[in-house]
Amino acid sequence: MTSASKYDILIQGGGPVGLACAAWCLQKYPEAKLILVDRNPLDDADLASADSRGIALSHGSKLLLDTIKAWPMECADIHRVHVSQAGRFGRALMTREELGQDALGHIIRYRDIHLALRKALRAIQSEVNQSESHFSWLHIDQDAEHLEIEAKCIVHAEGGLFKKQDWVESGRDYDQSALVGLVEVENATSHQAWERFTSEGPLAVLPSHYGSNILNLVWCGSPESSQQRLNLSDADFLLALQKEFGSRIGRFLKIQDRRLYALGLNYRKEITQGNEVWIGNAAQTLHPVAGQGLNLGLRDAYLLAETLAEVFSNPEEEQAPHHLEHALTRYAKSRKADRTTTIGLTDFMARVFTSNLLPIVIGRGLALTALQWLPPVKTALARQMMFGRR
Ligand SMILES: Cc1cc2nc3c(=O)[nH]c(=O)nc-3n(C[C@H](O)[C@H](O)[C@H](O)COP(=O)(O)OP(=O)(O)OC[C@H]3O[C@@H](n4cnc5c(N)ncnc54)[C@H](O)[C@@H]3O)c2cc1C
Repeated sequence: MTSASKYDILIQGGGPVGLACAAWCLQKYPEAKLILVDRNPLDDADLASADSRGIALSHGSKLLLDTIKAWPMECADIHRVHVSQAGRFGRALMTREELGQDALGHIIRYRDIHLALRKALRAIQSEVNQSESHFSWLHIDQDAEHLEIEAKCIVHAEGGLFKKQDWVESGRDYDQSALVGLVEVENATSHQAWERFTSEGPLAVLPSHYGSNILNLVWCGSPESSQQRLNLSDADFLLALQKEFGSRIGRFLKIQDRRLYALGLNYRKEITQGNEVWIGNAAQTLHPVAGQGLNLGLRDAYLLAETLAEVFSNPEEEQAPHHLEHALTRYAKSRKADRTTTIGLTDFMARVFTSNLLPIVIGRGLALTALQWLPPVKTALARQMMFGRR
């Protein structure tokens, strides 16, 4: 990096977190000399058939995405969450009324979030006075070699899935996979999410925008049994699902679009080094049990954009020795509590809700019962899930 670098900021990775970071940087400082390197196809139409897994976004994320008009059109609101454990005592019901919110969360397809952010970024780009704009959006091939681009600050937003990342630092392999798909349920309760803890891992059935009877399924289990479930005929799969879930939800009628993801925790202890910073899944990859990965990544992106806009919009201060490095260190400190709590809570849930040790089974039954009967605990947990730690 030299003071004559062509770019102030290089964002590597055009997934939801990289796109959001670019959009907030430009919104906060339109003259930013910013380049976004994106491995995804240039044409949105090529993403239309991409990853359709349902992602739970919190109300906090909605508020953030609204600031750049990146809230996708197609989404399903969650009004109630029913939590239980298969074959054991203990259950809890959380409702939007208890929390005084319009919704407890929103389910959106990954690709719709991705596309909405691309659209939002283009809209912000077109609003910037062309004579002031220094923004470039560079599309490269999936297998393109590493590019040499000089920038004062390098933002890593390369994301990735557990076991597919080219770095491994701290974390845990839960020896689990998530089987996701769309399941049709007879007379499903609309706007209700179900989370059921089974002996192999959490099983979630979440609303979708396709209608109240078509729900997103996330079934976590050992890699072997998940693979077997993937290979089952539709009829056998539905029987197995019904057996695991019981009858409370209604009758499972149809399954489509089954896919598998390996699950684990991989996170960086240090998210900055010199002029480099890591955000989103490039900083931490979480188990989806609490639906927190992208929510946390969006908070990373928003606060980093704020920091970078402040640094680069003050040319005099920016010239001061190590000004950027100090600002990044402050950014890392400001993210510590939120990251630690979200990573810790998710890891705790992923482990505790999979254990079959009797004391833990009893303990989690009691915890769910306590959650049901202690509204302040329930509210505190729900607020952490919705807004993160501030
Ligand atoms: C089954 C499952 C369910 C989940 N459910 C939820 C949920 O309910 N709620 C939630 O908040 N999170 C959930 N998550 C997590 C969520 O998907 C991730 O946290 C989120 O996708 C991270 O976004 P990202 O932009 O950091 O990374 P990614 O989504 O991985 O995007 C990174 C992008 O960078 C590109 N890229 C990679 N390397 C380069 C490079 N060198 N140059 C340029 N581009 C590059 C990639 O092509 C990709 O498009 C779930 C995850 C899984 C697996």
